This record gives sequence, C-alpha cells and structure tokens, in this order.
Amino acid sequence: MSETIRIHPAVDQGVKPDAANFAGGNLVCKCAQSPVKVTIKGNVAYDHACGCTKCWKPAGAVFSVVAVVPRANLTVLESADKLAVVDSNAAIQRYACKGCGVHMYGRIENTKHPFYGFDFIHPELFQEPGWAPPEFAAFVSSVIESGVSPDRMAGIRGRLKQLGLEPYDCLSPPLMDAISTHVAKASGALPA
Ligand SMILES: [Zn+2]
Ligand SMILES: [Zn+2]
Repeated sequence: MSETIRIHPAVDQGVKPDAANFAGGNLVCKCAQSPVKVTIKGNVAYDHACGCTKCWKPAGAVFSVVAVVPRANLTVLESADKLAVVDSNAAIQRYACKGCGVHMYGRIENTKHPFYGFDFIHPELFQEPGWAPPEFAAFVSSVIESGVSPDRMAGIRGRLKQLGLEPYDCLSPPLMDAISTHVAKASGALPA
C-alpha cells in the first residue's frame, strides 16, 4: 500500500477549513490573456468531490471539486464572449472557456429540475481563499468510467474517508432526499 492516491489538488494536502467571514469573490479561468472572470456573492454550499465524467477536473485529478451557489449570486464580469455551452442537451448547461477549456459555471434552465435555481461552480477557481470546503464525495464509482481501474477503488474510497470526504456512489443522503422530496411533491405523493 505505497500507492499515492491523488484525489484533487484542492484536497490532497488535507481539506482546508473555511474562513468564517468568506463573502465570495472572483472565479478566474486559466487563460494568461483576457481570462473569463465570474463574480460570486457569498459562500458556496454542498461543496463536494465529484467522480462523474461531466464535471471539469484539473489535469491529473481523479475527481472534480464542485459546489452550488444561488444563480442570482453569480455574474459574469469579464470575457463573457469566450464562454460556450459544452453540451446543450445536458440537464446542467456547463459554460466552458473556449480558450482554456475550464468550466466556469453550470446552469439549470429546466424550472422543474430539483436543483433549479442553483448554479454549479468549481470553487478552486476563486482567487480568494476561505470558501466552504468539500464535505463528501459523490458519484465515486463513476471514476471507473474515466478509466480508473476498478481494483483501485478500495484505495480511493479509503483515502476519501481519511480526508473526511464520505464516499457515495450517487449524491449524499440529504441531496438524494431533496431530489426524492421534489419528485414526490411533483407527483402528489407528498403535499406540495
Ligand atoms: Zn480561459
Ligand atoms: Zn460531477
């Protein structure tokens, strides 16, 4: 067991605690010239490591780090013309920089979607430190779909637990409950 298990550069040295007074900041893409800048008001929520194949990850990372903010708290500040939607058929419209490929934010336009009203962002792109840290790991088994050998999964889950990022193969129980509650209210199984 000497394999170095890298999850994501933002957590590999340990999960950094948040600053009590983090008030938001600017997400900046990786372009050396005229980078895309996105302003976020306030802190992020439900920050987590994600193993799905859709989230943007930095080179060498097995997981992304992704969190949500209310869509009203997000404004594209500079170089908006460099943004393009990665897959217009996806539930989450991910806006990537055409220059460097970094995903700046993901937006849900379907008002019936359980997470409508939230934008998905990668908080590692903040220029300012202190954002709320990842709390769990989602879609862990999906890293196999990116080419991770299944025999590495025990080590990866062990490392996530060591970092305090409980591994789940979908989302965390509170988020799965929120989705099911939304579906039950829409169908009438629960009062709206
Ligand atoms: Zn860029
Ligand atoms: Zn993901």
